[in-house]
Amino acid sequence: MGVLSIVATPIGNVGDLSARAIEVLKRADVICAEDTRHTRPLLERVGADGARLMAVHAHNERDKAPDIAALLEAGQKVCFVSDAGCPGISDPGGRIVEAVVALGHTVEVIPGPSALTAALMGAGVDIAKLAFLGFLPRKGKERERLVRHAIDGGLAVVVYEAANRTDELLEDLFAWCGPRRVVVARELTKLHETFHRGILGGKLSPPLVDKGEVVVVVEGGDVVEHVTAALDVVALANDASLSPKERARRLAQAQGISVREAYARLQQAQGKSDVAEVRRALTLAAEAAVALLSADDTARAARQGDADTSEAAGSDIPGADALLRLLARPSSMSAPVEALEAARALLGAVSALDALLEAIDGDGSDGTDDDDDA
Ligand code: SAM
Repeated sequence: MGVLSIVATPIGNVGDLSARAIEVLKRADVICAEDTRHTRPLLERVGADGARLMAVHAHNERDKAPDIAALLEAGQKVCFVSDAGCPGISDPGGRIVEAVVALGHTVEVIPGPSALTAALMGAGVDIAKLAFLGFLPRKGKERERLVRHAIDGGLAVVVYEAANRTDELLEDLFAWCGPRRVVVARELTKLHETFHRGILGGKLSPPLVDKGEVVVVVEGGDVVEHVTAALDVVALANDASLSPKERARRLAQAQGISVREAYARLQQAQGKSDVAEVRRALTLAAEAAVALLSADDTARAARQGDADTSEAAGSDIPGADALLRLLARPSSMSAPVEALEAARALLGAVSALDALLEAIDGDGSDGTDDDDDA
């Protein structure tokens, strides 16, 4: 019985092909590749072009399994690669593994680059528990159901998409998830790698560019939860009426973390960093408020039958931009306690606005059934 090697290849930067991957590819007799024209230059570049190439892709994956099994039985060293990244992750590979294992062979994996893990590495939002949804269906109820199911379960959502369809995806995600932190990881490991960060429904920074490949990461907890948790840390860290032990105990209880972790968070929040934390929290809350106000504007314009609702979506919200500008100035936030109060008031407004919009949405349903999956 033979061993099929499943090998990860770069998602942009050739330097990411591991030394072990190169060694295994060099030793191979046959390399199964999703698109042999795509893989050949990579193999030539690393001097691993001695093997015979066999095309195995989404359309013939299952049919090719017996051929691969026959090669393994004949003692040949066989590798499987997809166009880029990890085979089997929104790519061919899984069915080959299933079929080859069923025929009595084993597989070994040579892990490496993947857009999924690269995006998570740079996301900087809470991804402790997540649902990877791959490419969502383009239309239909399943698209919404998948996202809602994950978000309702408190999971972060990770989705693959092409850059030119990302705006549409972000609009849908805002409609289903509300104002959550979002990161669009674009052109990972390539020259123009960029992490576009912001809040669903609001502006991303830097603004999104309509080019390349992207991974979209939406945080599991909503902005209000996230900001509230951050503010709790600051409030407790500054509460002189409690002993350090009691502060840590209360924080551990409130956030479901260990007392040791709570001590560490409280220590971080003391001194200067608490001002920065409150300012960051306020900025997030303000961004969420702007996103919700924009959505309300768009919804109102749509209800009034405006021809072009996109203009309303981009319109300035009186006061909101000024608030964001104020918060961007480091010197404007020197009194943590007052800032804390302001942040809590803003959060209350965000929650109320979110609930109001949900209620309006519930009332305003036009009963359209867009399920075209059937
Ligand atoms: N198997 C691959 C992996 O492990 O990442 C994914 C292949 S899937 C067909 C292609 C999708 O992965 C793209 O549409 C995009 O969403 C994501 N992707 C691939 N390379 C990327 C990159 N360099 N930057 C951002 N996203 C990327």
